[in-house]
Amino acid sequence: MKVRTIQPGGGCDDPAPVRTKVAARCALLADLHRRLQADGVLSPRVPLDVDYRAYKWGGKCEYRGHHCPVTGRAIVKSVTIKMSAKWMAVASVEDVVHTYLHEVAHAIAGHDAGHGPWWAEWCERLGIEAHERTDVHCPDVMTQLLSLTAQDLK
Ligand SMILES: [Zn+2]
Repeated sequence: MKVRTIQPGGGCDDPAPVRTKVAARCALLADLHRRLQADGVLSPRVPLDVDYRAYKWGGKCEYRGHHCPVTGRAIVKSVTIKMSAKWMAVASVEDVVHTYLHEVAHAIAGHDAGHGPWWAEWCERLGIEAHERTDVHCPDVMTQLLSLTAQDLK
C-alpha cells in the first residue's frame, strides 16, 4: 500500500466538524484493533488509548517495564498503543491508519526491534511501508495541531 505524504494544509478536506471526525476515526481504529486481536495478530493484552493533548507525535507504542540490572536489556511488562486525537483531526484517514499500523508493528515486533528489519517485516505483513513518519513536525501540520484544544476534539 502506497501511503502519500501530507501536503501543507492537506488532509483536512473532510468538512465534518473536528469532533465528529475524531470520533469516527477513533471508532475506525477501535474496530481495526478488535479485528487484529480477534484474528490473533495482536495480543489482546495490548490496549488502544487516545491522547487528546499530544501534538509532538501522531501515535506511539508505549512500553512499561524496567531494564535488567545485569544485562541492561528492557524487560517489558505492558504495551499500550496510543494515538494522538490531534493527529486524527488533521491527518488523512490513510495517514491515521498508517500511523496506527506502524505502532501495531512496534507492539508485535517488541521493544528491542526498534525500526529494524523485524519491525519492517511486520510493517510489510500489515500492508504498510516501513518508514518513520515525521509529518507532525512539518510547520504547517504543527500549526494545525497546535490550534486544536482538547475541547475541539471531544
Ligand atoms: Zn516507530
